[in-house]
Amino acid sequence: MEGISNSKEERRKEGVSPLGRPADARYVKAGLGELPMHLMFLFARRFIAGETLDEALPRVKWMKERGLFTTVDLLGESVYETSRATKASQEYVELVERLASSGLDVNTSLKLTMLGLYISRGVCNENVMRVIDAVRRHNGFLRVDMEGSDCTDATLELVRLWHSSYKGVGTVIQAMLKRSPADVEVLLKEGIGIRLCKGAYKEPPSIAFKDKRDVDAAYVRLAERLLTSGIYHAIATHDERIIRHVIDFANSRGIGKDAFEFQMLYGIRRELQFRLVREGWRVRVYIPYGREWLKYTLRRLRERKENLFFVLKHLFTR
Ligand SMILES: Cc1cc2nc3c(=O)[nH]c(=O)nc-3n(C[C@H](O)[C@H](O)[C@H](O)COP(=O)(O)OP(=O)(O)OC[C@H]3O[C@@H](n4cnc5c(N)ncnc54)[C@H](O)[C@@H]3O)c2cc1C
Repeated sequence: MEGISNSKEERRKEGVSPLGRPADARYVKAGLGELPMHLMFLFARRFIAGETLDEALPRVKWMKERGLFTTVDLLGESVYETSRATKASQEYVELVERLASSGLDVNTSLKLTMLGLYISRGVCNENVMRVIDAVRRHNGFLRVDMEGSDCTDATLELVRLWHSSYKGVGTVIQAMLKRSPADVEVLLKEGIGIRLCKGAYKEPPSIAFKDKRDVDAAYVRLAERLLTSGIYHAIATHDERIIRHVIDFANSRGIGKDAFEFQMLYGIRRELQFRLVREGWRVRVYIPYGREWLKYTLRRLRERKENLFFVLKHLFTR
């Protein structure tokens, strides 16, 4: 089976330096010129639970002790070497085993391009099946993150295949994509649990809403569709206005607090996470860790202009 057609060179040019530690490259392109890598790392620390599993696990435990659910993500994406993709799958198996032996939620999130989607679907399938087997042994859950729109078709097809053999597999729908209402219907028909997010990748206006108001309106429509589907889904946003709307909608329809969950990212709106838990809602925090934090961090940086101010402030006060 073929992988996704973009040439390796094209993708490499798109990205910043190879994913990796600050030492790999001293500067990174961040939309406003070049930023020193050490500054990026300072910024990244807010959003990642460490570079190793040993650093991340105590944070996962800390969340659990405070009533939060978790999903753990090993950082990495856009892998082109089969050996690296295979190694990533082995690291995921180790993650699953460590979560289980530590008595933590066996719930992980992963990106298919880290496990070989850009190499071939066959390589990706083999690697992800290794992870699913481990997740299945512990009756856990695997969430397949959604990446750029060049991956959407393949991701949905593969998730449907995996879900047909193990029900603890779900995926993500991005409200910004105009195709999403149709994709949601396909997934619902098969009983697949969806994490609904706004979408973090840059997409052209031909396929995606560009105006924030349009994205938010699409999000609300899809959230209402998911909540009334009778299937357990995740409402992944830090947008308090939308969260309040979802709560009012659920209350008005008699949808119980255990019928769905909210999800938020590690390092963002923590006080809101705790507030929702106190109100009795289920909240799951997405906890990324690993050395390949750069691309994930750049997405967080671009999402919010205040983040750029944070970085710039440090740049000029050092
Ligand atoms: C659990 C989870 C999993 C996700 N998985 C995926 C995925 O698989 N694929 C994908 O494309 N996207 C994913 N995303 C990212 C998502 O698509 C958005 O890019 C991101 O959540 C920001 O949108 P928002 O819904 O929080 O709304 P926004 O309107 O962007 O933000 C609402 C508020 O949240 C806070 N906030 C949001 N982003 C930041 C930030 N970076 N730094 C500081 N504060 C911030 C601010 O207070 C802001 O006012 C995921 C998000 C979550 C919560």
